[in-house]
Amino acid sequence: MPGNSPLTHSSAPLISLLIVEDEPRYLESTRLLVSQYVHAVDTAVSGAQAMALLNRRAYDLALVDLRLPDASGHDIMAYIRQHHPGCRVIVMSGDSQIDSAIQSLRLGAYDYLRKPCEPDELIKTMRNAVAKLQLERDNARMLQQLEQSEQWHRLLVNTSPDVIYTLDAQGAFTYVNDSIERTLGYAPAELIGKDYLVLVPPGEVENARWRLNERRTGERATHNHELQLKRKEDLLSALSEHTSADHVVVELSAMGMYRAVDADHREFLGSYGVARDISERKEAEATIAFQAYHDLLTGLPNRALFKDRLGQAIVHAKRHGQTLATLFLDMDRFKVVNDTLGHLVGDGLLQAVAQRLRGSLREGDTLSRIGGDEFMLLLPHIRGRDNAAFIAEKILASLKQPFNVEGHEIFVGISIGIAVYPDDGDTIESLVKHADIAMYHAKDSGRNDYKFFTSDLRNSFNGRLAVENEMRHALEKQQFEVFYQPQVAIADQRIRGMEALIRWNHPSRGMVPPNEFIPIAEDCGLITPINEWVLAAACRQASLWRDASLPPITMAVNLSARQIEHPQFVDKFTQCLRENGMAGRGIEITESTLMRDMDGSIEKLRKLADLGVEISIDDFGTGYSSLSYLKKLPIHTLKIDRSFIHDLNGHLDNGSTIVAGITAMAKGLNLNVVAEGVETRAQLDYLSSLGCDAYQGFLFSRPVAVDKATDLLARQKD
Ligand code: C2E
Ligand code: MG
Ligand code: MG
Repeated sequence: MPGNSPLTHSSAPLISLLIVEDEPRYLESTRLLVSQYVHAVDTAVSGAQAMALLNRRAYDLALVDLRLPDASGHDIMAYIRQHHPGCRVIVMSGDSQIDSAIQSLRLGAYDYLRKPCEPDELIKTMRNAVAKLQLERDNARMLQQLEQSEQWHRLLVNTSPDVIYTLDAQGAFTYVNDSIERTLGYAPAELIGKDYLVLVPPGEVENARWRLNERRTGERATHNHELQLKRKEDLLSALSEHTSADHVVVELSAMGMYRAVDADHREFLGSYGVARDISERKEAEATIAFQAYHDLLTGLPNRALFKDRLGQAIVHAKRHGQTLATLFLDMDRFKVVNDTLGHLVGDGLLQAVAQRLRGSLREGDTLSRIGGDEFMLLLPHIRGRDNAAFIAEKILASLKQPFNVEGHEIFVGISIGIAVYPDDGDTIESLVKHADIAMYHAKDSGRNDYKFFTSDLRNSFNGRLAVENEMRHALEKQQFEVFYQPQVAIADQRIRGMEALIRWNHPSRGMVPPNEFIPIAEDCGLITPINEWVLAAACRQASLWRDASLPPITMAVNLSARQIEHPQFVDKFTQCLRENGMAGRGIEITESTLMRDMDGSIEKLRKLADLGVEISIDDFGTGYSSLSYLKKLPIHTLKIDRSFIHDLNGHLDNGSTIVAGITAMAKGLNLNVVAEGVETRAQLDYLSSLGCDAYQGFLFSRPVAVDKATDLLARQKD
């Protein structure tokens, strides 16, 4: 039936066919012949019917009879051409005139069949048309796939973190992906047509010529080669907060492009390549290299780098007959800062100190941090010892002003030991060791000072590390001993107290005075167990004396800030008093040690004062702090430092002014005054005239061992 009964062949290609033919028999036979080659067939017997069908759907192929009752086949073709340009038309015509055929082809007919046509010819034409349609479809599909794949590659290329580019034979950019903008700040369009050298810093031109405009291929092509490229200027300013680098380090792989001209010749077309930004990696590598040779906290060279530089300096000095100095610097009581104010403040202080030390140096000097609070300084050319002394003095002077770290005002002292090449040593090890020994000597003699190494020191302790080690065992080996020095009331010359002073009975060095090891014990933390031991021994001794019915005295024990900062300080202290049958008696605190955590210390000392412990401020006048805290502290006694007493000669000189001033002030605050280090009768008389309460000093007695102290007390009985 003609019209709208599509016959479908599921196995045939997906092609729809419209047959327009007014002769029913011819229409039917044609339909039967061609239907197996297509998927669906519609038929129309008139122009009107054909139009109606064409309005409903699009056909891939149409077989159109030119002569129809109501229309010409050319009209239908024109309609198809306008509305369904994708539809191929095969014209069937009984007209033998060539004109009609030509007209049909002009109107876009795909093929022309003359009626009546042989079935074979119809089938052949049909097959051809179908095959061609299919070919076109495949082509279109491939084209689409290609387009997609190109899009896909474009996406890959443009989202790649690497810069991907092509250059022409002259070295001008023909393509560069978007990544160039992230890497160097140029939009790709800005670079197209420009010479690659616009990206190359002057110093890199040779390298870039060789690597980028690559005429080589295969194994000899550039592979992962490092190259510097310039950033675009305006990007530089936009990024300047984050980076100071005006160039980027890339890793480049490049390859030449060629076209074969003939068997032996090829034409160079240009090159292409991939550049990866490795600046971050380079920076990380540089950081790691830096870290291996520097102290991270201060940025100073570390011990390894210092030794390296010292080694070089020695070689140089040897060759030119020059002199060099090695200075060992150790901060005084740094551990106290660290323990009482915390590591953050400790770290901040170290940084600030390093900064200030640097300010005292010349170019070419090496300052290094070799451990906790220890620094070493290399002065590679000095004219003589004076030169080194001058630098040491400069350093000490630079530390006179306090540091302000996180709102804490901190005073820093430093002890400096100096060893000079070639007199004091000619190797890295001997110079470092001898500077260490000299530093230790500087600590001995009152800290915040510098000392040169001398051959006498060679026999003394081998530096502070040795002392630290030996001190650790001294407690277990019971090498410590307590000496006692009387405190005498000026009014009646009677002993009113004893100060417990530690001694180290060293197996080879004999009796070691506390100045030689207490500072180190304070620095390394051993001070707490040592002081606890002294306190227990002193308390035990006081109760023995009491049990022996000797005159009652106050027992004075020296405390360190570190010990007071200990969370259990008050408990331990009171427990020790209780265990040894003592009520609270005097303790002494050196003024400078109190400076750290004032509030915490005040609170704790007040608890002790409530138990009846008398608190003295030791070495008064030598520390840095003022009267302000004297009022806050539960203090009972001020001990005037022996340096002021030493300066006394009875007249109104500097020493006596200070002593008179301190005494008057103490009286005003209702405090007892004890003078330390009284060696002469004249000093005593003067102190007496000022109204000083008590004194301590060689005039009455040196610090003595317990038996001697007992004798002194026993003599008081009568
Ligand atoms: P300090 O508490 O000011 O002790 C007084 C020091 O002055 C003692 O030195 C004593 O021998 C010395 N001295 C007393 N009278 C005279 C004199 O007339 N002339 C001279 N030139 N010196 C005199 P020493 O025993 O060498 O102690 C030095 C410092 O070591 C003490 O000064 C104290 O700060 C500290 N120390 C001693 N024992 C201990 C202890 O058990 N623990 C702590 N933390 N420090 C201690
Ligand atoms: Mg004392
Ligand atoms: Mg003192």
